[in-house]
Amino acid sequence: MNMNIESSDLVLQLVDVDAATRARMKCQRPVAIWLTGLSASGKSTIANALEVALVERGRHTYLLDGDNVRMGLCRDLGFTDVDREENIRRIAELGRLFVDAGLIVVTAFISPFRGDRALARSIIGEDAFIEVFVDTPLDECERRDPKGLYSKARAGLIKNFTGIDSVYEAPLNPDIRLETLGRSLPEVVKQILDYLDKHFARS
Ligand code: ADP
Repeated sequence: MNMNIESSDLVLQLVDVDAATRARMKCQRPVAIWLTGLSASGKSTIANALEVALVERGRHTYLLDGDNVRMGLCRDLGFTDVDREENIRRIAELGRLFVDAGLIVVTAFISPFRGDRALARSIIGEDAFIEVFVDTPLDECERRDPKGLYSKARAGLIKNFTGIDSVYEAPLNPDIRLETLGRSLPEVVKQILDYLDKHFARS
């Protein structure tokens, strides 16, 4: 006889302190601001500056960044398509919990596949998900190359590198499209803050 607990045996535990209560206590509308774009497009830089700006406004935030998550929660995953999908799924589940906790979550992951970003949106919830396309052309990303990863990828030292030998599927209809070429960081951050002011009055 199988004594293991099956997933069909699991029952969602009802709790009295709910998401709305937590959001109310923080006086904000929780949301996930999902940055997507090529490596070196500016995701981490923008996410960091955005979080600083939000905290200055008294918001409660949490920043999830690619390398940090890959060193911990997702350290068992590589960069094959299957592993990239699982990486994004875990981050989305984490994002969902943080949004449920009442936080404004900023994520900075390449998240190259449209299907995975759609999955993230469905996990976190349509009303609490803002897709932000950090739209920096590949040649500019390669020119910046702050971590030297493009030159390694071009030399064949890194496989499955997005933009070189792994595809990046640009969003067709992002909530926000950020151009970074020839624009200052404060300008770019303001574009997101203006969006939040317009669409998420209490964010
Ligand atoms: P990613 O997280 O997408 O890999 P990073 O934020 O690590 O990208 O690197 C982006 C690089 O581009 C940084 O060196 C940053 O200083 C530079 N950069 C130049 N202009 C901008 C801008 N307008 N917005 C964001 N980053 C910019």
